[in-house]
Amino acid sequence: MKLDDEKWLAEFRERLLQWFTGAQRDLPWRKTRDPYSIWISEVMLQQTQVKTVLKYYSRFLQAFPDVETLAHASQQQVLKIWEGLGYYARARNLHKAAKYMVEHMGARIPSTYDELRRIPGIGEYTAAAVASIAFGEPRAAVDGNVRRVLCRIFRFEEDVHSQKARDALQAYADRLLSPDRPGDFNQAMMELGATLCTPRKPKCLLCPVSRFCRARLELDDPAMLPLKRQTRAVPHYRVAVGIIWDEGYIFIDRRDENGMLGGLWEFPGGKIENGETAQEAVRREIKEELDLDIEVGDFYMEVRHAYSHFKITMYVYHCLYKGGEPRLTAARDWRWVKPEELRFYPFAAATQKVIRRLESEFCKPPERRPAAGRR
Ligand code: SF4
Repeated sequence: MKLDDEKWLAEFRERLLQWFTGAQRDLPWRKTRDPYSIWISEVMLQQTQVKTVLKYYSRFLQAFPDVETLAHASQQQVLKIWEGLGYYARARNLHKAAKYMVEHMGARIPSTYDELRRIPGIGEYTAAAVASIAFGEPRAAVDGNVRRVLCRIFRFEEDVHSQKARDALQAYADRLLSPDRPGDFNQAMMELGATLCTPRKPKCLLCPVSRFCRARLELDDPAMLPLKRQTRAVPHYRVAVGIIWDEGYIFIDRRDENGMLGGLWEFPGGKIENGETAQEAVRREIKEELDLDIEVGDFYMEVRHAYSHFKITMYVYHCLYKGGEPRLTAARDWRWVKPEELRFYPFAAATQKVIRRLESEFCKPPERRPAAGRR
């Protein structure tokens, strides 16, 4: 271990920073020191690839150019702009943090790690990234990419998911960090993980710090690290939902904020239980969760979608409203909307596929409403 060797550390930093200066990708958030823009980009980049973030970053900044605008937007407006980017807790946390800054910090993004960490919704990584990149505070920001690089450089062979391992890797990162250019150094480590020190086939021949890397020098295949966790089978759920129609309007409800896909809108329904048909599941779920009486009509479509931790197959049915006032048990809000109004609400990715088809078929002539009837 070379962490007490100042010469080794200085050489490592110099090589990495030199490489970063020449090789870094041309990305919009690298051209600014504006802490708000850096904050938004760092949150978007967590668990999402750069090419996806590029599509959302400028759109988000256009809609919410500063902390105040973001704080004063409704959660629905924020989720709508975020729609499709996934991991919606990030959008809810951004919004919550912006409100806190407006209420307690004069609508200003604080300049130190400790102050940033006091804000609900800002975690260790984001606080370190913003404090170092926007304000030059020497704080190592350790995300998944950086963790992988560290495991290989130091040949770290423990399960990286434990808190003990995370603390050890944070300590390595803190020691490696360049005290003079902490923001660039953090970004260089992230860039190395994203472009060369990739999970499966690291490009060690091009790596600026290969001569310091124990995995490269001592193992047959550096990609053996970090140690993989036993992968659990991804659960697969079969769900059935109803597009409930009444006089050209469609019923939608909003999911609880704290659950999966929290705060997003949906067509009501739920998991199909053992021994139950999809039609029976739609009727049961809508009665149990909303106390609405419906008639299940034509089968409309099947949607398959893989979320980060589970997969679903969703069976969608047209339904006719028969009676009852919505009584919310799981959902938090509801609306009757025209098909052309669906686009104004944020929905999860699987439901967006249904909406795209509905828009193409039902947006203009409402008289094409489907007749109810069993398939
Ligand atoms: S030498 Fe290879 S394994 Fe080591 S840090 Fe560089 S790219 Fe990663």
